[in-house]
Amino acid sequence: MGGVFVAGSINMDVVATADRHPRVGETVAGREVLYFPGGKGANQAVAASRLGAKTTLIGRLGKDSFGAELRAFLGAQGIDLGHVTETAEAHSGTAIITVAEADNTIIVIPGSNALVSAEDVAAVPLAKGDVAVSQFEIPLATIAAFFRHARAAAATTLLNPAPAQKFGHDLLALVDILVLNETELSLLAVTELADSDPHDRIADAARRIRVNRDQIICVTLGKRGVIALVDDRTVLIQGRNVAAVDTTGAGDCFVGAVAALLADGQPIESALGYANVAASVSVQRMGAAPSMPTIAEVSAALR
Ligand code: ATP
Repeated sequence: MGGVFVAGSINMDVVATADRHPRVGETVAGREVLYFPGGKGANQAVAASRLGAKTTLIGRLGKDSFGAELRAFLGAQGIDLGHVTETAEAHSGTAIITVAEADNTIIVIPGSNALVSAEDVAAVPLAKGDVAVSQFEIPLATIAAFFRHARAAAATTLLNPAPAQKFGHDLLALVDILVLNETELSLLAVTELADSDPHDRIADAARRIRVNRDQIICVTLGKRGVIALVDDRTVLIQGRNVAAVDTTGAGDCFVGAVAALLADGQPIESALGYANVAASVSVQRMGAAPSMPTIAEVSAALR
């Protein structure tokens, strides 16, 4: 059995809840403010660890109170933090999130996440069977170095190109499994897509960005589920009908779950199906990292 290695961001998510979102220039009265550990890297590591994977996080925190709280929280999730360093040069990453009408807006201030370097990822002990995971809240050059290191060790590379950002073919060519939503796919395929678009249209766009037939492209479609290109097949996984209260971190839960199942040696289609269930559990709770389910909770949802 392999491990999951996540090179990525660690943030404190400061969440304001309200009955509705303010329009530009408007002030609305909120209900409450909550502090949740987050950042795509940390969220995905928490999801993988709670689902039973031996999980290592590679990242940077500031020398501040958010940094100390984040380290304590992540350590309590059983994540190996031996490759999470601290810097006096920047504050810990922070995200300002508003939640209203079961939807969210997010502003991310990268802080120390912007300092995660190629040297940081080069020191990570990767081997065949491991899954190397990253996202776009640390520098692209660091992600490329991490994936080159993973490929040299025969580990599997999984990229979640979020938040949406254009990136080069050089990085895409280092990716074994690409997990993205319709916004990120729109940017890469240079076409307008919505998650309500017909499956054929989404699969066509995914096919256009695919580097080769060995690459797996998995497009998450919110409550509609998932569509994936695996070898010559187009795999459809129906979304589950649940009462969503906060979709923050649904994509991260999905990515962490896929990585955990692959590290456990499961085939990709089983991993995608399981991740769809795990993510549907996460949307029924508030927050990002704290909403990630355990194995027992996913098993209960499957019953
Ligand atoms: P976010 O940025 O909010 O984390 P995302 O856009 O990256 O999300 P989504 O496609 O919204 O990712 O969701 C990822 C997965 O989570 C979906 O493929 C699905 O499995 C599950 N999911 C999301 N929303 C719902 C929902 N309302 N009901 C059931 N499952 C959901």
